[in-house]
Amino acid sequence: MKLKHHNQIFVGMVLGIVVGMALWWYAESAATSDREMSGAYHTVMWALDLLGPTLFIGALKMIIAPLILASIVAGVTSLPNMAELGSIGWKTLAYYFVTTTIAVIIGLVTVLTLRPGHRDASLQIRADAESKQEALRAQYQGEFGESAVDANGVPRPRYVVWLHGQKRREAGAAAGSFESQLEAISRAEDRTPGEIFTNDIVRPLLMNPFRSLAANPPNALGIIFFSLLMGIACTVVGSPAQPVVRFFQGLNGVMMTITHWLVRISPIAIGCIVAKLVADTGPKVFASLGWYCGAVIGGIFVHIIVLLAICTFLGGVNPIALWRGIREAWMIALSTRSSAATLPVTIANVTENLKVSPKVANFSLPLGATMNMDGTALYEGVAVIFLIQIYGGLDDVLITMTAVTTFLIFITAVLASVGAAAVPDAGLVTMVIVASAVNLPIYYIPLIFAVDAVLDMFRTSTNVLGDSIGAIVVHRLERHRLGDELASQP
Ligand code: ASP
Repeated sequence: MKLKHHNQIFVGMVLGIVVGMALWWYAESAATSDREMSGAYHTVMWALDLLGPTLFIGALKMIIAPLILASIVAGVTSLPNMAELGSIGWKTLAYYFVTTTIAVIIGLVTVLTLRPGHRDASLQIRADAESKQEALRAQYQGEFGESAVDANGVPRPRYVVWLHGQKRREAGAAAGSFESQLEAISRAEDRTPGEIFTNDIVRPLLMNPFRSLAANPPNALGIIFFSLLMGIACTVVGSPAQPVVRFFQGLNGVMMTITHWLVRISPIAIGCIVAKLVADTGPKVFASLGWYCGAVIGGIFVHIIVLLAICTFLGGVNPIALWRGIREAWMIALSTRSSAATLPVTIANVTENLKVSPKVANFSLPLGATMNMDGTALYEGVAVIFLIQIYGGLDDVLITMTAVTTFLIFITAVLASVGAAAVPDAGLVTMVIVASAVNLPIYYIPLIFAVDAVLDMFRTSTNVLGDSIGAIVVHRLERHRLGDELASQP
């Protein structure tokens, strides 16, 4: 009997968890009995990394830039007129704004009700921080001089980054994502909101398109803006621009074909990605952060119910039909932790299975993958309030949860989610925007690094779900002009 493709992905995931747990267990027991782990273990980990993150996610990322360019030009030029683009555009943006706002509110209510930062395990973390506080300050001043701390006695970000890196090097850990995340966080902390607007929004929009396409990760905002302009210009120019239009329509078809090939091999690749993640993380990390993870995942669960209600009542597609339509994209988002890498599959699922018109999907899905991140927005608020619950009131964290603090967190969480790149861990980096808005020192953020990969799986799959439902809703609202019906029972 041949398993259906989505079941193959599911089996791949389950096998990935089992193999990952076995590897984690092996590494744990080998670490205590025999510090030299066997060569076979390293070979298996290397192979998992090669087949999953390196080859599969790499191949998906390879096609994102040309896909966004081609799909938007093809989408815009297939619209009958500019009024249609305007109408699809504002409805899409309104949907993004409303759903992101709902997500943050759900996150805030969840974290303020469950209070993960006031649970026993968190009280222990706080007590440790309290006892280390004086010693830490003295260490910074001893190591780097008086100026290593500011007037309030708070160590300055660059020294924090340096010291964290140093500690990890001493412990024999390879330099890598940990340092680069902390560095990105400290860079972001020193900037004013005006600088963030100019550097993160205006400049990328106007970047040379060839640079946008070649950047790693691609500059999605810049590609979207340039392809929108190009599509509109092609429509204005009319028949002399037809060869350009046909080229991009052809390119779009070619990218979708490559996507289908990648989807075929996805069960094996997803199994490898999940196995590697579980082997690296293990269940232990949840011991002290279980309530925090529960608050993020619980909030996401409630938000999914809201999204499904919107999909049913506004989009006219019931949850079962939706699940059947986009399950591949959802599972790929869950394992790759990147909305951008999932984008080709999201477009294929939404247009082919749910019959959303490419005129809507080709425009709204690339935009949504870049800007509309419900899961990330929800997470940003929960994470910062969790840290305030734990550390609030320490000498260097003079924050109390007032209505003003909550409002600041609300606004900045929405902005931070729009600014987050659609790649793994991006939400963790933009969280600094929220943290610095309420003066939470960045050296408290690493506490939540350990569980972030798992939470990223949930927020990325929710981001993709939100984008897909957005395309469905906008299609439904525009159906009188588009003329095509959605597949509510595929
Ligand atoms: N990984 C997420 C995404 O690609 C962004 C995040 O880190 O929250 O949608």
